[in-house]
Amino acid sequence: MASGRRAIAATATFLGILSTVACSASSGESVPPGSSAPTRALDGGTKQASDRIGAPGIGDPDFPTDGNGGYDVDHYRLKIDYDPATKHLSGVTGIEATATHGLTRFNLDLSGFEVSRITVDGDTATFERARDELTVIPAKPISDGAAFNVRVVYAGEPRPVRGSSNLGTYGFIPTEDGAFVACQPNGAKTWFPGNDHPADKARYDFEITVPAGLTALANGELVGEPKTAGGKTTFVWRESHPMVSYLTTATLGKFELRRGTTAAGIPNLAAVDPRYRNALDGLYTKSGRITDYWSTVFGPYPFSSTGGVIDNFSAGYALENQTKPQYGGFDPEESTIAHELAHQWFGDSLSITRWKDLWLNEGFATYAEWLWTEHEGGITAEKAFRDHYAAGPDAAIWKYAPGRARPTDLFNNSVYTRGGMTLHALRQRIGDPVFFKLLKTWVAQHKYGYVTTDEFVTLAEKLSGKQLDPLFDAWLFTEKKPAL
Ligand SMILES: [Zn+2]
Repeated sequence: MASGRRAIAATATFLGILSTVACSASSGESVPPGSSAPTRALDGGTKQASDRIGAPGIGDPDFPTDGNGGYDVDHYRLKIDYDPATKHLSGVTGIEATATHGLTRFNLDLSGFEVSRITVDGDTATFERARDELTVIPAKPISDGAAFNVRVVYAGEPRPVRGSSNLGTYGFIPTEDGAFVACQPNGAKTWFPGNDHPADKARYDFEITVPAGLTALANGELVGEPKTAGGKTTFVWRESHPMVSYLTTATLGKFELRRGTTAAGIPNLAAVDPRYRNALDGLYTKSGRITDYWSTVFGPYPFSSTGGVIDNFSAGYALENQTKPQYGGFDPEESTIAHELAHQWFGDSLSITRWKDLWLNEGFATYAEWLWTEHEGGITAEKAFRDHYAAGPDAAIWKYAPGRARPTDLFNNSVYTRGGMTLHALRQRIGDPVFFKLLKTWVAQHKYGYVTTDEFVTLAEKLSGKQLDPLFDAWLFTEKKPAL
C-alpha cells in the first residue's frame, strides 16, 4: 500500500501523511461466545472429532479474530452479482479446504449480509453469527486431514470498513458507477466469506455479473470473453497463483482499457475510470516499463500479467492487488507505480503470516521507490537514505521500531521509510553484489510462499558471511536513532 497524498508530495523529506492514529480495523474484538475452545487437542487430549472446534482466529496475536483455525483453504470460487443502482450484492462462495484437525464446527470471516444457506460437502449445515464471525456447523464432523467443500449463499448491501484514520475506507466500497475493491488488511470479509488473513493463501476463480456496459476487473486473467444476456454482463477471471485474501479485487464500473504486452513480453492491462482517461497511456506504459525493470533486479515476474487500475474513488491510497494494483482516485507518480509493482514480489509472491512483519512488504516497496528514482536519473538511494537519516534524534521515525509493526498503527511511516533505510544500511554493510544477490535469492527461495524477518536475517548472514544481528536490532527493533 502507498498513500496517494504521500506520493503526490514525494519530494518532501518527511510528510507524516501516514498517520500515527490508531486504525479501526477489527483488531481487538472479543472472541465470539461459544467459539473459545482451543484450536487443537494436544497429545493426551481427546482424539474424537466431536470435540474439535475450529478457532475463530488464525493465531495472529495482534489481530486475534482475523482468519480462522482448523483448516487451510485451497481454492475459492467467488460468484457475485452487483448492481450499482441498488448497491445490492448477491453472492455464492465456494470454498475447497483441508482440515488441519477434526472439525465439528469452524468459522469463516464475513461482515454484514444475510446468509441464506450453507452446505458442507453438499449437506445443509447450520450456522451462527457473532460480529464478523460466521460459525458453520456441518451435518457430519470433518476428519483430520480431510478435503471438504463449503458453499455459502448470501446477499445484501456491502459495508466497507469506514473511517479508519490510519487506513481510510477499505473493502468493497460502492462508487457512483460501481465499486472500488481494495481490502488490506482485513476487508475481504466485506464481500465474501473466507479465511481473511494473509497466512492462508489460495487460488481464486471469480464470476462477476454487472449491468451491461460496465466492466468488472478481478485478479489474474480473463477466462473467455465476457458474456452479455438479459441486460447483464458476466466476467470470469482466474488467479491461478496463490494469493492472500487482502489482495483480492473485483473493482467494477465504467472503465477504459488498454491491453498489450510489456517490451519483455509480459501481458499488460491498464484500466481507468473515464475521469482519468488522460492517464491511461501513462499508466500502461509506466507499468510495463517498471515491471520489466524489476524483473531484472528482483528476478522473473511471478504472475501471469501486470498492469493497474485507476478508479474514481478518492481512497487516498494505492494497493498492490495481485496482477492489478489499484489507484484510488489519483493519477499515480512513477515512484508510486514502482512501489506497487515491487510489491508483486514483496508482499504478493512472498507474503507475511503475521502483520508485525509488515516491513518485509513496505520497507522493500519503499526502497524500490528509491531504486527506481535513481534508475531514472533522479536522486540516488544513498541521497534518499541520507535525507531521511538527517531527522533529529527525537523524530517520530526513531520512536517506532519498524520490525514490529503495531496493530493500532500498522501503516506507520517508520514501517515504510525506516524499513527502506534498513535495507540501505544492510546494502552498505554487505556491498552491492551480495545485497542484490540476496534480493534475488530471497525472492526465488520463497516464491508463492510465506516469509518472516528471522528468515531474512538468516539468509543475509549466510550470503554475506557476516554477523548482522546488531545491524538489524538497531534498525528494526530499537526505539531510538541507529548510529551509522
Ligand atoms: Zn506498500
